[in-house]
Amino acid sequence: MAQGQQKARAVEVTIVVPLYNEEESLPLLVERVAAVMRRSGYVWEMVCVDDGSRDQTAAVLAKLAKVTPEVQPLYLMRNYGQSAAMQAGFDHARGQLVVTMDGDLQNDPEDIPALLAKIEESGADVVSGWRKHRKDNAITSNLPSRIANRLIARITGLQLHDLGCSLKVYRRALLDDLRIYGELHRFIPAVATQFGAKVVELEVRHHARQFGVSKYGLDKSIRVALDIIQLYFFQKFIHRPLHFFGYAGLLMLVPGGLMLVYLLGLKLLGFDIGGRPMLLAAIMLILLGVQLLGMGVLGEMLTRIYHEPQGRKQYVLRRR
Ligand code: UDP
Ligand code: MG
Repeated sequence: MAQGQQKARAVEVTIVVPLYNEEESLPLLVERVAAVMRRSGYVWEMVCVDDGSRDQTAAVLAKLAKVTPEVQPLYLMRNYGQSAAMQAGFDHARGQLVVTMDGDLQNDPEDIPALLAKIEESGADVVSGWRKHRKDNAITSNLPSRIANRLIARITGLQLHDLGCSLKVYRRALLDDLRIYGELHRFIPAVATQFGAKVVELEVRHHARQFGVSKYGLDKSIRVALDIIQLYFFQKFIHRPLHFFGYAGLLMLVPGGLMLVYLLGLKLLGFDIGGRPMLLAAIMLILLGVQLLGMGVLGEMLTRIYHEPQGRKQYVLRRR
């Protein structure tokens, strides 16, 4: 290193943006984020993840990265989905604080400083944006997401108005403990709560999409519903799947067994039981019950495999 050259300060804030077909929004987004972050005084970087876009997003990103040193481009080989793109961004983030936002300008970069201030002063692990005046379709987007927010609150105890807002800031240490699979990017604060993280909320602005189209359709609600079931299972039973499947199995086995004993008694008394629907019901219940119990035992094996090879513990220690 040349004499007199100052040692560069380490990156403090990383902004992670997943991009799928956002060629028109991207230049404006980078310009606005750069303007806000330069004013903020933080040392920052912006990890832009091209999620296998079919338009010119990758080319636009490469050009922007050349003229904006803070922009770190990543290009996924194909379209993996928003969660994988965000995970790629997290894996490459160097800052101790990680901001996530959408690449379509629906989130407002002007809100970033307030989020950063909030996480610093509150000491929380996550500050989650709340789009109080959300500019999406009321029936297909806002209503299902309100229901989802309520359900998540019931399951995890996390009382957020707006889980689905992408604009959030996380402490890196927390993200290092999480892995975002499937489409769980919508539920990172809920997953984080399951790890014992402290999550707070801050009102942010929201804009209607100016360019391009939404990447999600009506089936999003169905996928969200399935993901909520997944969260419920992980919250309660990841360490004891036999209690889930075994309970359900016993609920079938016990009545099935009782019915069979009853029918056997009748048979011994000389009655004909061959034509009784109850016989079919008893056999079905017993078969199902045995299968569920077996699944529970397999689940117990899997939960050990899930934890042990990675040295993953059943608990997470607080970093001081
Ligand atoms: N996105 C992505 N990969 C995908 C789908 C979406 O990286 O397969 C990005 C997209 O470019 C945007 C963000 O995820 O930056 C949110 O997507 P979108 O705006 O379509 O979702 P909506 O706001 O309609 O829920
Ligand atoms: Mg959007």
